[in-house]
Amino acid sequence: MDGTWNTIVEPFRVKSVEPLRFTTRAERAAALEVAGWNLFGLAAHDVIIDLLTDSGTAAMSTDQWAALMRGDESYAGSESFARFETVVRDLTGFTHVIPTHQGRAAERILFQATTSAGDVVVNNTHFDTTRANVEFQGAEARDLLCAEGDDLQLVAPFKGNLDVDALEATIAAVGAGRMPLVMVTVTNNSGGGQPVSLANLRAVRAVCDRHGVPLFLDAARFAENAWFVRLREPGQADRTAREIAEEMFRLADGCTISLKKDGLGNIGGVLALDDGDVAERCRNLLILTEGFPTYGGLAGRDLEALAQGLLEVTDHDYLAYRVRTAEYLAELAWAAGVPTIRPPGGHAVYLDAAALLPHIPAHELPAQALACELYLEGGVRGVEIGTLMFGRPSPDGPDSAAPHELVRLALPRRVYTQSHVDYVGEVIARVAARADSIRGYRVVSQPEWLRHFTARLEPLTEETP
Ligand SMILES: *Cc1c(COP(=O)(O)O)cnc(C)c1O
Repeated sequence: MDGTWNTIVEPFRVKSVEPLRFTTRAERAAALEVAGWNLFGLAAHDVIIDLLTDSGTAAMSTDQWAALMRGDESYAGSESFARFETVVRDLTGFTHVIPTHQGRAAERILFQATTSAGDVVVNNTHFDTTRANVEFQGAEARDLLCAEGDDLQLVAPFKGNLDVDALEATIAAVGAGRMPLVMVTVTNNSGGGQPVSLANLRAVRAVCDRHGVPLFLDAARFAENAWFVRLREPGQADRTAREIAEEMFRLADGCTISLKKDGLGNIGGVLALDDGDVAERCRNLLILTEGFPTYGGLAGRDLEALAQGLLEVTDHDYLAYRVRTAEYLAELAWAAGVPTIRPPGGHAVYLDAAALLPHIPAHELPAQALACELYLEGGVRGVEIGTLMFGRPSPDGPDSAAPHELVRLALPRRVYTQSHVDYVGEVIARVAARADSIRGYRVVSQPEWLRHFTARLEPLTEETP
């Protein structure tokens, strides 16, 4: 479709439907209480529109479903692996293609094979599993995001860029010998899904070359990044997203990809790289926990569906629909007076709960309060990215605050239509209209690590001290 229509015409029609279950407010209030006011504790069938994550939640195409039937489940040397390997090689240009069950398994294997205690790994922003896998090796995971990326409201085209001067300074201070690799996450998931420019990747490449440090991409959303490059980077408008993606990968020495994102799959990941020695170490680690190198924890049919998904995801009609949908949801939030991270990312809209609920201090979890209200109002499930996720409990005082209080509404790929998004916009508007009366929460019980997944909470009332 050319860009002159207001309607977002989804570039697919529906062949198989999955019914939504509409709940009443009373049912949702009861479900939320049982879940300890933690949206991760809800049964999915109590959710009407599920925007918890865009990971593994994509709808597969007819060609992907057809490809499943071709799955060759041979233990070694299956045809499905050969097809997957060819597709990944054509896209990335990397020689060695190592399938894994999801992205973090690729990360675990890569860092175990390359990184030791005392090393420093640099990234624009480490995704949480990436950080955990670096730290598990006893190394330091250091974020060097460009300054623009820290300013939520600033509108700039490439807020995911890595700070190249800071990279130079880090290499000078740490020494290239203690830096096993530099990673760039495209798009920058933890920084609001903001893209990285080709110019930035080229500059990082040049620094890495000068110091002999390999460059890896964390490429979960490589197609969305390529689309933003086409839209926003001077001189790129006439290239296809596929050509841009191919160039991004060819600027690197290897990549990890969670194929639950732009692989359009429900499960899967891949590690791909050029260095034969590192690849051999990785394959040996793969065999230990994931499986034989021609399936790596996946069924042959998964490899088929992913190979097909990787061919579909750079389609321009799909990417235009995808990115426009996120932008459209952000516009609905703005119209309701709710600020978001700007510009909207490719995969999600991040509502700024601190701005909407200034009367709730960080330790009373304003973003969790907003996330709960969106669920109560309309059965919409998002995820808190604020003090519940990143604050630290303190024994004799309020929790330390996270840098921002956000609710992420992530869009599953090819799952919801514009009318679903309109409904989410209505829910946001109704909640925003009564923002002044929304109260905070307190944590009743929590585990020591990653508390946001399983903590139990309680709403604060007038009487709660
Ligand atoms: C999802 C994600 C990962 C981890 O992948 P999983 O498939 O969830 O294990 C790593 N990096 C980024 C940027 C991601 O979005």
